[in-house]
Amino acid sequence: MVDGQFVRAKIVCTIGPASEHPETMEAMARAGMDVARVNLSHGDLGSHRRVLDALREIEGVSMLIDLPGPKIRIGDVDGGVHLRRGDSVHFTTRPVLGDEKELSVSYGRLPREMAVGGSMFIDDGLIEISVTSIDDDLEGFQGTVVSGGEVTRHKGINVPGADLTVRTPTESDLKGIQFGIDLCDWFAVSFVRVGQDVEAARRAIAEAGGDQPVVSKIEHREAITNIDEIIWASDGVMIARGDLGIEVPPWEVPLLQKTIIGKCNAAGKPVIVATQMLESMATSPRPTRAEASDVANAILDGADAVMLSGETAVGLFPVEAVRVMNEISRTVERGAPARGAREHIEGTIPDVIGDLAARATDTVDPAAIIVVTRSGFTARMVSKHRPPTRILTVARSQDVLRRTRLYWGVEPLDVPWSDDRDVLLVRAISRSLEEGLIERSDVVLIVSGSTLEAPGGTSTLEILSVEDVLSHASK
Ligand code: PEP
Repeated sequence: MVDGQFVRAKIVCTIGPASEHPETMEAMARAGMDVARVNLSHGDLGSHRRVLDALREIEGVSMLIDLPGPKIRIGDVDGGVHLRRGDSVHFTTRPVLGDEKELSVSYGRLPREMAVGGSMFIDDGLIEISVTSIDDDLEGFQGTVVSGGEVTRHKGINVPGADLTVRTPTESDLKGIQFGIDLCDWFAVSFVRVGQDVEAARRAIAEAGGDQPVVSKIEHREAITNIDEIIWASDGVMIARGDLGIEVPPWEVPLLQKTIIGKCNAAGKPVIVATQMLESMATSPRPTRAEASDVANAILDGADAVMLSGETAVGLFPVEAVRVMNEISRTVERGAPARGAREHIEGTIPDVIGDLAARATDTVDPAAIIVVTRSGFTARMVSKHRPPTRILTVARSQDVLRRTRLYWGVEPLDVPWSDDRDVLLVRAISRSLEEGLIERSDVVLIVSGSTLEAPGGTSTLEILSVEDVLSHASK
């Protein structure tokens, strides 16, 4: 919730040098940030820890750690190296200080896993190299610059079409999981290619002693082929358009985006649309009209969340970018109903009850749906059916409660747990009233188990008058 107004689509913001000051993050939270993303591809663990510690103190924000995955990078470069069209450049797997003649790459097997005649892209596709020969010792290769530009240290490399054997989670992902296991609510896994990659990441999280849900970043061509099994294996999906738009031509991205959103909606898995959403706001206080349309269309397509990357990590207007994104979401939601997944019911009880709750809102017009959720699954199933009313979640575990913040329309309600269902509901309704989320004259829907002690989970949908509940409780 922002300034007393309810925005259903969530905003994920990447934290970086432009936003890591606690006051800036605080201001971003007030402007509409729901989830803060800490990208382990950049920066050092010491500063990431400071950011995550500061975020924990900020109300209303969940934390997502983005693991780097098998991203190949340029090695060290002294300042910047300017590559011009037609230049011949040698790339080596040895650690050298790069110049116009030779640059190092971070992946030792790259020369043996790429093909002569193929393309390699540096810096988000800005620089293109055509591979002309592979060294006999397989420790380097020669390339010709097709489109030039400035190369600085650690810039990302993409080799579309190469069948790289490095898999996610990598050694550095495992270190990232160890680092973040007590610090974050979600892990995002980069360059997922098959469902097994997600399962491997989940196992690594469990071995490190955590149970965080996994967001799979869709940014590799193979992930498109295997999208159904990846969605099935994941707790959420990020359409990482930066790398995706290099691995496949950029003009394929819009339809892929719509298809992936549709599949995630049908499965009831949260989907984040990421990268270059308000790109011009890195240097300008106002977005372009095309950018405003991009954010709006992602929401209209059914995205649970939209993401800011460079805009908030290194841009000049991090708080303004969040405010603008929030304003776009609010305006779209006022003007067009959310596209739901009502026709897709997989038959679990929470799914069926989520569907019934959404249908009930059409006639009952409740002020809120209060959902008691054990693992977050019931909250996700209610969100899946896109009811127009706010979804307030109550959970025994604070960890579960914070995770639900990524789900479309869901707001965690922090009330002390009770195994007595009636006591818990009175607490939840009273807290909602105190926070101005509902009024005494309202009706609310309750989704919960018939008892909270017994296993078995969600089984009931109730339509209750706030007044009746509170007057009965005070007797
Ligand atoms: C992307 O490629 O769009 C993305 C979100 O991933 P990263 O920022 O890690 O490159």
